[in-house]
Order: sequence, then structure tokens, then C-alpha cells
Amino acid sequence: MSLPVIDTPTFEMNLLSIKDPITYRPFLVKEEKLLLMAMEGGDQAEVIKCSKQIINNCCLSEGVSADKLPLFDLQMALLQIRSKSVGEIIDLTIGHLEGKNSNEEECDGRTKIQINLSDLNLTEHPDHSKHIKLTDTISIEMKYPTMDLYSRMDGANIDSGSTVEELFNVITDCINIIYSGEEVFSADDHSREEINDFVNSLSSDQFEKLKVFFQTMPALLHNIEFTCPKCNCQEKQTLNGLGDFFL
Ligand SMILES: [Zn+2]
Repeated sequence: MSLPVIDTPTFEMNLLSIKDPITYRPFLVKEEKLLLMAMEGGDQAEVIKCSKQIINNCCLSEGVSADKLPLFDLQMALLQIRSKSVGEIIDLTIGHLEGKNSNEEECDGRTKIQINLSDLNLTEHPDHSKHIKLTDTISIEMKYPTMDLYSRMDGANIDSGSTVEELFNVITDCINIIYSGEEVFSADDHSREEINDFVNSLSSDQFEKLKVFFQTMPALLHNIEFTCPKCNCQEKQTLNGLGDFFL
């Protein structure tokens, strides 16, 4: 006689980039094990691969693909799935940034804090728009970077750290539609080289406008405050992204 099959409950969540609510199930022990193992290994590529796998397994609605989700929605999806799988509370151990407290003294003190996943929200900038007007007649519709695109940036920061070439690549990848007067050009119909030429032909002002799109797009940020048990220093930090919440 075969063993009984355990029914998994399903839940619904909303993601910014998808219009209808998505039905999902919690992850199963085998999936949690994969995720934990990837995290213990500390290999970012493995963690990304595993996170995407879990989202694709657990999101039951048609048309949800972890490869296509913007990074912020992918993070939210994973956190929501986790909260229904192992609970809403995450225990984290936090230290000072770069081993120095806010008085600039070296301290390796670690503090245990708890975060309730239901407190986490995407930070949305009021002036953010996917539609960017470049001239009176030319405008662009952008799309959000996926997790793969981020990992190719190799931790580069759109504000400061990225090389010009990386920035160009990301911008080129995220152009969705170009409007010129009555004409509409979908990026899918044009080669990467053509889009690259277009980006290269922008003025610095116009290029800045594209950068603002990335600086203001939704992000998973969470402010925390704690007092270090070793030096008694009060610290404020902003947690940002999956690594901070899970590792
Ligand atoms: Zn300390």
C-alpha cells in the first residue's frame, strides 16, 4: 500500500509587476533543504538558482516565471513563500558595518534581532515612472532588471560602483519600447547593437534620466535599530535584499 499524500495548502499574493493575484504553496522540506544548503555554501550563483527554482515550483498560477520577474518582485515572492513555509519571524545576527561601530571604534560584537516578514514592504518612490521623456517627440518605456541581470552586474551599484560599461549594458537590457512621434519601436525587434547605438547617442542629461529610473525603482528595504551588547553603541542599518534577510 502506498503512503498517504499530504495536501499542501495554497495562498495568494500580489506582486507589483503582475496584475492578478498569484496562487502559491509553501515550500516543502526538500526545497527548504536545497535553499539552506545553497546558503551554507555561500555561492551566490547557487542561491540565485535555488531561489528561482523554489519560486517556479511554488507559484502555481500560469505565466509566473522567476526568470522574468523584476528582482524586487522575486524577493517579495520568496519572502512570502518563506513566511508561509517556516514562519513569519526571521532570526538574524547582525554586526557593525565593516566591523566599526558608529563611534568609528572597532568592535566585532554581534546582536541577535528578529524581523517579522509581514512588516516588510517594497519602498516605492513617488516620482518613479517607467516612462521617460527624452525630448518633445522621443520617449522610452523601461522594464525592470531581473535577478540574472543583477548577478551579471556582479554586485555593481548603479549609483557609484558600476563601471560605465556595466551601466550601459544594464540600461540597454532594460529598454523596452522607444517612442518617436507616432512610431513605436519594440526593443525585441531590434538587435542589441542597435539599442546600444541608441543609448550611445543620448546626451548626458538624457542618460541621467535613465539612471534615475534605477535609483527610484521599488526596492525591498528595511530599517533596523539595535544596541550592540559588546560596546553598547546604538546602530541604525538598512537591510536590503535577500542576502540580508536570509544569510
Ligand atoms: Zn559593538
